[in-house]
Amino acid sequence: MSTVSELATQVYTLPTADGDYTFTGAKLGFGTSRRGSHINHHPNTFAPRGTRCSGCRWTDTHIFWSATDQRYIIHIVGRSIVPGEHDKIRTAWAEDADDVLDGMLISPPRHVRSSQGDTALELPQPNADALQEAAERDSDLAAVFRAWSRSN
Ligand SMILES: [Zn+2]
Repeated sequence: MSTVSELATQVYTLPTADGDYTFTGAKLGFGTSRRGSHINHHPNTFAPRGTRCSGCRWTDTHIFWSATDQRYIIHIVGRSIVPGEHDKIRTAWAEDADDVLDGMLISPPRHVRSSQGDTALELPQPNADALQEAAERDSDLAAVFRAWSRSN
């Protein structure tokens, strides 16, 4: 198990909501909710608004270590291939491994909260996959991921 300071680095350029962001660093983890097949809609069409199809809309999550900033970068893109829809990009910088987890947790949908009276935060599957992969490269993230996995 290594720490981020020992990782081989290269130059990356990420699209962000504020334009391209270039830094020197290492890619730690990736996760996606994309599926190769389409569901819930007619073949050769796109999923209408409100219809869930992870062949049409999905989330790509990356975790990077930025040696330039000496911080982690969480890069989450809501992708869509539906005509008229655009990718939604969220970029967050995290000071430490705990901040990485915090930046990847989301509130459950409102209908889940009201039916279960549960306000616990969730780690969506692509984010969990990215964190799990990153944990193999960074001991700090490994400790945070283990603690989260034990309690959830
Ligand atoms: Zn589809």
